[in-house]
Amino acid sequence: GVADIGVTGLAVMGSNLARNFARHGYKVAVHNRSFAKTERLVAEHGDDGTFVPSESVEDFVASLSRPRVAVIMVKAGAGTDAVIDQLAAVMEPGDIIVDAGNAHFPDTIRRENALRAKGLHFVGSGVSGGEEGALLGPSIMPGGTKESYDRLGPMLEDISAKVDGVPCCTHVGPDGAGHFVKMVHNGIEYADMQLIAEAYDLLRQGLGASAAEIGEIFAEWNRGDLESFLIEITAEVLAHTDADTGNAFVDVVMDRAEQKGTGRWTVQNGLDLGVPITGIAEATFARALSGSVPQREAARGVLPANAGTWEVTDRAGFIEDVRQALYASKVVAYSQGFDQIAAASAENGWDIDRGAMARIWRGGCIIRARFLNRITEAYEENPDLQLLLAAPYFTEAVGNGVAAWRRIVAQAALNGVPTPAFASSLAYYDGVRADRLPAALVQAQRDFFGAHTYQRVDRPGTFHTLWSGDRSEEQQD
Ligand code: NDP
Repeated sequence: GVADIGVTGLAVMGSNLARNFARHGYKVAVHNRSFAKTERLVAEHGDDGTFVPSESVEDFVASLSRPRVAVIMVKAGAGTDAVIDQLAAVMEPGDIIVDAGNAHFPDTIRRENALRAKGLHFVGSGVSGGEEGALLGPSIMPGGTKESYDRLGPMLEDISAKVDGVPCCTHVGPDGAGHFVKMVHNGIEYADMQLIAEAYDLLRQGLGASAAEIGEIFAEWNRGDLESFLIEITAEVLAHTDADTGNAFVDVVMDRAEQKGTGRWTVQNGLDLGVPITGIAEATFARALSGSVPQREAARGVLPANAGTWEVTDRAGFIEDVRQALYASKVVAYSQGFDQIAAASAENGWDIDRGAMARIWRGGCIIRARFLNRITEAYEENPDLQLLLAAPYFTEAVGNGVAAWRRIVAQAALNGVPTPAFASSLAYYDGVRADRLPAALVQAQRDFFGAHTYQRVDRPGTFHTLWSGDRSEEQQD
């Protein structure tokens, strides 16, 4: 075969990825279950570079140079398994199959195991940036073996987004590590979006400002520490006027946020690992609440608010308070996400470099942001950092905003504006920094009703109190 790399699955993501490879000078073998998509890609974008189209999987594999690299970009789930089976049947030991779709990482671990037994490399790779990223430079998070990365990595780095000339692609770790990190990326994206939405709501209700005016505030924020793709597009969305009604576009959109499932996966995994990812969880549940239509109808106009009304006298001060609260809550959400990566990395032996993850998220992906540089720096300074929030830069940045953060969460509560992500992030902040938590009482209750034992602050050992007897204490070990 002559092709450097192949792409199978030529819907929007796959075609754009194939075109991106072609534009970088690679000979790209292209294949799709139904040949029409392959023909269309070559007819419409043949001048992007060199495509080698095939109608059958056999011809597609034969058109690849050895060791072969085939990238799968099909509908995640059963489709991916079907295509893997077809490829594996004709590929040879040493060849590399890459799944660049949105697979759930346990599936990737399973597939990697099965293909390893056949001598094939299987690389589950996260790809973020949507259609445009796939074409112009995504953030790429490949897992799999180091050996497969030697062959594959340079090509992926070539087509990835670049920030200051540095590719937004690195080898994440073995088997499911790449898809895992992509999952957490999406979870953080959920949190980031919800925090922005809460900031918008507070500004709207607190200032009585129009969507367009708030769009201007976001545009201004995008020139500072909050600079990020999500803040930028928020400004654009808020500035947009609906052509039909002449109203602010955001006001004609039904207030129900849907989800495809990566937020849910992230939260489920956080629960499995016992890592408090409260920002991501609240964001995921906030979408669920927005879609709880019968419950919302049952509550609207029925549940009394007994709330105050906004009296913002210092407009600039209020805007700055909301900005500080947003920034601090955002740092909490990222800190929690990086904790989750650390926990999964330890559990699975992935050895993920968290600083490198922040680096490859700086461009191409949905959560790309200026402040990711600070996260990379924090982990470069201390690779074993226990808590991102406690890195000197963030301690100071968040510390400066804590008073504003408290004012905002308190006012929101007093005035009946829901801020689940702001409020839970502040609760996490206060919880994680507390000298002593009421968990002592919870553990005492557990010992009372279930003899679950406890440890004491004053001496080592495990103890149980005879609650139903004379309440004497027994040492267990
Ligand atoms: P779709 O998810 O809509 O999938 C369509 C493609 O899958 C078509 O090429 C289709 O072939 C193929 N396909 C489906 N089932 C099978 C099967 N059983 N056997 C063979 N081929 C099959 O395409 P997208 O381009 O939107 O997404 C591709 C992947 O990328 C998905 O995993 C998706 O989750 C992920 N994605 C990632 C994004 C990102 O930002 N990273 C954004 C969007 C998607 P046919 O033409 O013959 O029907």
